[in-house]
Amino acid sequence: MKKKVWLGALLSLFVAVFLIACGSKSTNTASSSTPASSSKEEAVSGASEKVYTDPSELKDGYDVVIIGSGGAGMAAALAAHDAGASVAILEKMPVIGGNTSKSSGGMNASETKFQKEQGIDDSNDLFYEETLKGGKGANNPDLLRYMVDHSSEAIDWLDSMGITLNNVTFSGGFSKARIHRPADGSAVGGYLVNGLYNNLMERKVPIFVNATVTEIIEKDGAAAGVKVTIDKKEKSIAAKSVVVTSGGFGANMATVTKYKPELKSYVTTNHEGATGDGIEMAQKLGADVVDMEQIQIHPTVYQEKAFLVSEAIRGEGAILVNAQGNRFYNEMETRDKVSAAINGLPEQYAYVVFDQQLREHSKSIDTYEQKGMVIKADSVEELAKALNVSEENLKKTIEAWNTSVEAKNDTAFGRTTGMDRNISKAPYYAIKVAPGIHHTMGGLKINTNTEVLNKEGQAIPGLYAAGEVTGGIHGKNRIGGNAVADIIVFGRQAGEQSAQFVKK
Ligand code: ADP
Repeated sequence: MKKKVWLGALLSLFVAVFLIACGSKSTNTASSSTPASSSKEEAVSGASEKVYTDPSELKDGYDVVIIGSGGAGMAAALAAHDAGASVAILEKMPVIGGNTSKSSGGMNASETKFQKEQGIDDSNDLFYEETLKGGKGANNPDLLRYMVDHSSEAIDWLDSMGITLNNVTFSGGFSKARIHRPADGSAVGGYLVNGLYNNLMERKVPIFVNATVTEIIEKDGAAAGVKVTIDKKEKSIAAKSVVVTSGGFGANMATVTKYKPELKSYVTTNHEGATGDGIEMAQKLGADVVDMEQIQIHPTVYQEKAFLVSEAIRGEGAILVNAQGNRFYNEMETRDKVSAAINGLPEQYAYVVFDQQLREHSKSIDTYEQKGMVIKADSVEELAKALNVSEENLKKTIEAWNTSVEAKNDTAFGRTTGMDRNISKAPYYAIKVAPGIHHTMGGLKINTNTEVLNKEGQAIPGLYAAGEVTGGIHGKNRIGGNAVADIIVFGRQAGEQSAQFVKK
């Protein structure tokens, strides 16, 4: 396949720049990367915009067609290609990456080489148990077990492709440092999307953007291809297997409020393509769904831009204070509980507070600053003034927190993780946050082979799904860092399984 710089690439860059300039919540940066990089070290760096396959190159059929180019879709495409299948990715937006691009934390994994290198004594069983506890016991045990047991291998798989997640920290609800991030502590999303993209380019896997799949074609009860609108034309593409990796429905307020009417006034952190198309299309082939009402709100969202402040910032040592300048909850509790604590405040917002030490450790704060989210001050008193909170309270809060960090004992709220550094080095920082819609935990019912199941629990032949479009893995509350584990582990599995199905 000859690679062409399609006009869409330029258009997508323009759209992204325009959206950033407008401060839109649907910002989806056409992030920089070097296509077809041949060196592993270079796989996630580079400076030019992405290039996509010209629509004229879309064939009438492939072994495997993949709907959506987030982390799950790209992982599936790589695995299917490496298993010998001919593959195409169809993406409805002008840029790839979906919600994955916006993922700010990292990827949870246990018993990894990076944990071992850093002396972190973790186990798959503990990862399983803590995730199950966080999900209130409602997680599908088989799917969760599969994700946990294949997490370390997935970290190695990414590393072998130059995508190295070796900076390990804490996520809310976990007792061990388990969330794996890029070396500089930057947001995982852009790094992952660039790395996967470059590996796809190396393998010459075609990626079509502005390509909206409208239907999964059925033949004799099996998935047999898709209908796609590309270049304003509808085309039927035959496929021996179809992989649905079209993401969740967190940007589709009609569906969100259908399942959870109380979320009517919430902002969403999701990209605008997160409309749940794949769920509806698969349902037409008889697919079953699970946990559709389990919609996660994330506690720390900067409301004006609907932009998420990563949990890893708290994991690195930030605290939450209320409008009086006081701490009010264990910041490292699970997302549902921290969100409820903020919603329980009379003002229903809080501040994420941290210092220069943390600032130097977490590159993702650069992005928050660029977006104008961060309030900065030379002293705690100045910060209190800037936030319009009591100087006395904020000073006492930080002093008490520093004492807790030193004693490794948070007598006030029982926090036990993210206590490796105190808050003592100027400048001091704060970001105003409140909860926002973040992740749809329900979706298509799958088994550990990522086969989509019908209402009788039988696999629909040729139909596979992975990532946020599926349900059951996260139960009633997803732990931060488990979405990336989900998309990589099950995306990869969907690629391998769909490629094997082709050979049957
Ligand atoms: P995941 O985290 O599960 O990989 P993402 O949200 O990152 O999910 O990616 C899903 C991708 O699927 C998004 O880029 C989205 O635009 C794309 N998508 C959603 N619906 C369609 C559709 N009907 N046709 C093609 N692509 C789609």
